Amino acid sequence: MLLAEQRRLLCEYGRRAAEIGLVIGTSGNLSARVGDLVAVTPSGVALDRLEPEACPVVDVDGYLVEGELQPSSETPMHLAVYATTDAQAVVHTHSTFGTVVATTMTELPPLHYNILLLGGPVRVAEYATYGTPELAANVKAALEGRRAALLANHGGVTYGDDLHKAFEATRLLEWLCEVYVRARAVGEPRVLTEEELSAVVERAFSPPRFPRRED
Ligand code: 13P
Ligand code: ZN
Repeated sequence: MLLAEQRRLLCEYGRRAAEIGLVIGTSGNLSARVGDLVAVTPSGVALDRLEPEACPVVDVDGYLVEGELQPSSETPMHLAVYATTDAQAVVHTHSTFGTVVATTMTELPPLHYNILLLGGPVRVAEYATYGTPELAANVKAALEGRRAALLANHGGVTYGDDLHKAFEATRLLEWLCEVYVRARAVGEPRVLTEEELSAVVERAFSPPRFPRRED
């Protein structure tokens, strides 16, 4: 079986995504790349019922290489991410708060400095029908310099060096969207300035060292 470990991980993270409510039923999809091959979740199968054998393998040009089931309808979007970034794994969900923001905003503003882990304010890709090359192109544009994007009236997508990182980026994106939505419910949230964000980057690159006590 090609990409056996990646297919096992697709099932593990698919199950986790369903368990913590990031996806419902057959919404959402995951993929992991090794060289010019990509293991992807099958289309129309609930992510908490996946088996490794059911996950197709495609090549980076979109040809089916192994598997009986059809690859996710969002495979063109996953392949566009692999073609334009250093991604080794991609996660797409219809998570609740991500979709709320994607339905009402053009960008998720930086309320919390952890948004820098995704590359900065997260853009909302222009709406296009699911599964189309247009949606893939819109997502590609929205991802420039970012590890996450929201998809207008649809959901969100993140990528990373492996499935664990891509999955954690999706959890972070959902948390940031939830904070934004809840903050808006309380009042008008203060948005971090460019200067404040730069100061965070500076500090992260050269953290102060605690002096060791000499006894
Ligand atoms: P698939 O079941 O084809 O992966 O589609 C789910 C989805 O999220 C479409 O955007
Ligand atoms: Zn979707």
